[in-house]
Amino acid sequence: MDFGWSADQEERHRRTLEAVRAAFPAGPAGRPPREPFARTDWAALGRMGLLGACLPDKYGGVGLGALDTARLYEALGEGCEDTGLVFAASAHLFACAVPLDRFGSDDLKSRWLPGMCSGEVVAGNAMTEDEAGSDVSRLRMTAVPVAGGHVLNGRKSFVSNGPAADVFVTYATTDPEAGHLGQTAFVVPADTPGVRAGQPFDKMGLRSTPASAVTFADCFVPDTAVLGAPGMGATVFQHSMGWERACLFAGYVGMMARLVERASEHARSRRQFGRRLTGFQAVSHRIVDMAMRLESARLLLYRACWEMDQGRPARLAVALSKLAASEGAVANALDAVRICGGRGYLTEFGVEAELRDAVPSLLFSGTSEIQKELAAKELGL
Ligand SMILES: Cc1cc2nc3c(=O)[nH]c(=O)nc-3n(C[C@H](O)[C@H](O)[C@H](O)COP(=O)(O)OP(=O)(O)OC[C@H]3O[C@@H](n4cnc5c(N)ncnc54)[C@H](O)[C@@H]3O)c2cc1C
Repeated sequence: MDFGWSADQEERHRRTLEAVRAAFPAGPAGRPPREPFARTDWAALGRMGLLGACLPDKYGGVGLGALDTARLYEALGEGCEDTGLVFAASAHLFACAVPLDRFGSDDLKSRWLPGMCSGEVVAGNAMTEDEAGSDVSRLRMTAVPVAGGHVLNGRKSFVSNGPAADVFVTYATTDPEAGHLGQTAFVVPADTPGVRAGQPFDKMGLRSTPASAVTFADCFVPDTAVLGAPGMGATVFQHSMGWERACLFAGYVGMMARLVERASEHARSRRQFGRRLTGFQAVSHRIVDMAMRLESARLLLYRACWEMDQGRPARLAVALSKLAASEGAVANALDAVRICGGRGYLTEFGVEAELRDAVPSLLFSGTSEIQKELAAKELGL
């Protein structure tokens, strides 16, 4: 067993962290933002190789495996306080580009992946419906076969990047009798007649990720838009969720690292009762708990990614890693607010935004309860 990074990995991480910090400076002038991300930010992520980290170099990607991709996203999450931007990039890459690369035809990949890597294209993953959240086995959205393709009808209720997206990866029922084998995945350009993104949601956090419902009304998509084959939708979705549940949460591990640093700095410099806050065991032990959550999540994350790179199913490791990173991020953000006291509650101090940005990690990519269900199944319970 070797817990060390190679010189190349260290160098790539250092360069990425530096580039991210330079491109997205912290502090009142920079983050946390209240507006949707700008296309210039998106292009900057593209130039840094982040939008195509695990995509083939022939499309402009960096061609990294899961472990190295996660390490880059940890650097992005640590260096960029705008977690909404980190989340938007992760959803684009792991829930859209990854399944497109794995299951798309050569034509589909040549059409979309270069722009998705460079940052010219924004993608949104449209799975969730009003009646299909944790349980996506019965989708109301239908795809009816017609000459040369399918006609989509339905409404997706929560699509991150939805209002900004140029393309959607979406899922519909093609055979209602066939259970999970009756779903099909499609790549649908946002300007296809019948596709409409709704008003952007007003959200608790991740303010820079625009999100909305997306409606598909009598929307014709050609056969070439199918990912894999008709009936493979559940397989495509599970593959994308494996990547998302591991690598998207690397960004939250990066956030946890930043929070340990932030809380430590504050506790070292703030004095009460004639002592630094670090002189109170209640405070220093709280920071130790934060560091323990960070290191646990990190180890589980890299273990899960290592399994993925070995070609193993990694279901248990990925579920545990997602749980540790999301629950740990919320706990660490709340602890950081406590340690910063009243200042921590003020918007201008920046720590309260970390808490608001951490909370939704308990929900997306499968809630904590669903991760525990998946883990229980893997444990044979
Ligand atoms: C910020 C954010 C971004 C998102 N982005 C996207 C996106 O880009 N694309 C997309 O398709 N969706 C997206 N979603 C939707 C997300 O995937 C769903 O919210 C999530 O899957 C949960 O579904 P639900 O909200 O319908 O909750 P429900 O499924 O109704 O769950 C409600 C509660 O019941 C619990 N529960 C449900 N079933 C079980 C069970 N079997 N055992 C134990 N507990 C259970 C849940 O854990 C939860 O606590 C996003 C959500 C958020 C918050």
